Amino acid sequence: MSEKYYRDTVVDVDLDAIHENYKMIQNLHRDKTFIAVIKANAYGLGSVTVAEYLAARGVGFFAVATLDEAIELRMHGIREKILVLGAIRPEDINKAIQHRIAVTAPNLDWVTKARENVSDKYDKEVWMHIKVNSGMNRLGTSNIEEINRMIEEIEGQGSFIYEGIYSHFSSADIDSEVNDKEYAEFKRITGAVKKPKYVHIQNSAGALRISGDYCNAIRVGISLYGYYTSEYIEEISEVKLNPSVMLSTKVIDVHTLSAGEGVSYGLDHKAESTEKIATLPIGYADGLLRRHTGYKVRLQNGTESPIVGRICMDSAMISVPSDVKTGDEVTIISREADSEQSMESYSEHAQTISHESLTTLLRRIPRSYNGEDTAFVHNEVLK
Ligand SMILES: *Cc1c(COP(=O)(O)O)cnc(C)c1O
Repeated sequence: MSEKYYRDTVVDVDLDAIHENYKMIQNLHRDKTFIAVIKANAYGLGSVTVAEYLAARGVGFFAVATLDEAIELRMHGIREKILVLGAIRPEDINKAIQHRIAVTAPNLDWVTKARENVSDKYDKEVWMHIKVNSGMNRLGTSNIEEINRMIEEIEGQGSFIYEGIYSHFSSADIDSEVNDKEYAEFKRITGAVKKPKYVHIQNSAGALRISGDYCNAIRVGISLYGYYTSEYIEEISEVKLNPSVMLSTKVIDVHTLSAGEGVSYGLDHKAESTEKIATLPIGYADGLLRRHTGYKVRLQNGTESPIVGRICMDSAMISVPSDVKTGDEVTIISREADSEQSMESYSEHAQTISHESLTTLLRRIPRSYNGEDTAFVHNEVLK
């Protein structure tokens, strides 16, 4: 891990905010197991750091998307329970056994193939969570007969443990009846088969939206990091989430344009009269998308300044008041939920969602962590 970095663009991650969000959501679901979703490198924030921080504060169950992500956590000493939400290749089942990882069983064919691939090299078990398709049509089966056969196959293989059954909502963040329908479908299907230890369907929006008493676990990703998945969820939710991420930089150069002069590739933006331009050391290769042209960042004195012209790979230009100078601080994403620089405003400007905004903050930006008794920087580039 490298604490060194040589550019003024930083993602600040407030680990305490993440911990607070966990406590609030767990409080809504006191009797349920909290599965912290830290796939995609904890939505870009650093899965090992987030897992270590939460594990030290009572979280005992994590979920990731791929077997590689799960092994990464194991290689960094995470000993808590880990479930892979995606379907691993059945031929990789021994890796899951070796690393003590729980996996998702999407259909009977997968279970049969996984059985065929088990070697007796590892004298250990692997936990299986059967995936039910309750309407999203992405992964899993809705066929009760098939699920019964899967349970038989799993229980008939000495090293497989039938540990969970789960599904995923397609529309938990939308104000419609679809969510209730999918929840009812999940109950209908799972009600007809043998129940394992864990039954779960709620993602962040689901956990903020319904009590889900039929289930005994929740899988929370985006809201752990402090974000609602939609305005609808924010309105109906009892909890006030703490945004955990700030993206900031500093002005690295300034130019004064005369009327008619342009800025950046293609000189798309032209000065109508004398205009001061400040250059920021962040571009689309850091995750500031080209669609963010026009988005207003905040200067250290509170002034808002729009990104003008085309965003480059490594830099972006903003139109600023005449007193702005090199070294001035600039907030691109703020931790204040109601500000014009909130994660939601930033995402809306690029017609996307917080999930995508977070995961597209790329590795070139160092992460600066703060929490109880913790403060350090992780720079992936120089690690
Ligand atoms: C990503 C994911 C989650 C978490 O979703 P959020 O909206 O981030 O809470 C839960 N379950 C599954 C299957 C997922 O893929």
